[in-house]
Amino acid sequence: MEETTSTILAALSSLPPSHLTNLTNTILSSTRRHHRRLTFLLSSPSLFSLTLHHLHTLSLQQKTLLISRHLLSFLHLLTQSNNPTSPLPPPVSTSMRERDTDAVLLLLLFCETHKYNPEALTAPFSHWRLNLNKIFSNTLLTLSYSSAPPLGACFGSVLIPFIETVSRCWRLVGVLGCEEGKEVKEVAASAATVVSLPAVEVSVGGRECVICKEEMQVGRDVCELPCQHLFHWMCILPWLGKKNTCPCCRFRLPSDDVFGEIQRLWEVLVKISAKHI
Ligand SMILES: [Zn+2]
Ligand SMILES: [Zn+2]
Repeated sequence: MEETTSTILAALSSLPPSHLTNLTNTILSSTRRHHRRLTFLLSSPSLFSLTLHHLHTLSLQQKTLLISRHLLSFLHLLTQSNNPTSPLPPPVSTSMRERDTDAVLLLLLFCETHKYNPEALTAPFSHWRLNLNKIFSNTLLTLSYSSAPPLGACFGSVLIPFIETVSRCWRLVGVLGCEEGKEVKEVAASAATVVSLPAVEVSVGGRECVICKEEMQVGRDVCELPCQHLFHWMCILPWLGKKNTCPCCRFRLPSDDVFGEIQRLWEVLVKISAKHI
């Protein structure tokens, strides 16, 4: 099994049943939404050619960015369900313009078709839409989850295709953007995160702020990061304006950088799954 797939599976298996059901339902509704959109896109000659045209105008880098944002929304779903009470706000906005969503959905369908039905794309260009439409309708028939599937069936019909899509996005992005282990450039913590950081009162003396090396006075309001390390506000705010990591333990806070976020959420998933392998 591919490493990506096994990491996701391990993270999923760590979920309590109620979280898994919630996650499955969320994935199911987003999958249905995407399938409805693709069905519409493939049945409309004008929308199909508009989307195709939009795809043509995008550079490889822009396409990667689109798929990355798509992947980011999946990773966000996965990590959020592992930690539903996370005090951190969601990462960079994963909401995309409809035109961009269409482009991603079509791009992923092209990749899948290229892999399993390459002959559909060697046909003349004018046949693409009908060919894709036929393939996609067949896929939907095999999935056939018109009514809510019983819990046992969820795993096969909802989660497996989801994991496959995440892995596919990961491969497409990984080639260019953010291979695992690759050093991420320094980025600022996202403004939404910084605003949401809690102030806590120092209750015991003798604790030092590692940035200025001065003691934090008892009774004073200081900033607490999610890793529970404390800092003077005056010290940590400028720091987070440049870096999204804790000065003590390098805990990574959300940023507005798409590739940085993918890597951060992936590391979260890897940590979760490592506990359960
Ligand atoms: Zn300080
Ligand atoms: Zn820390």
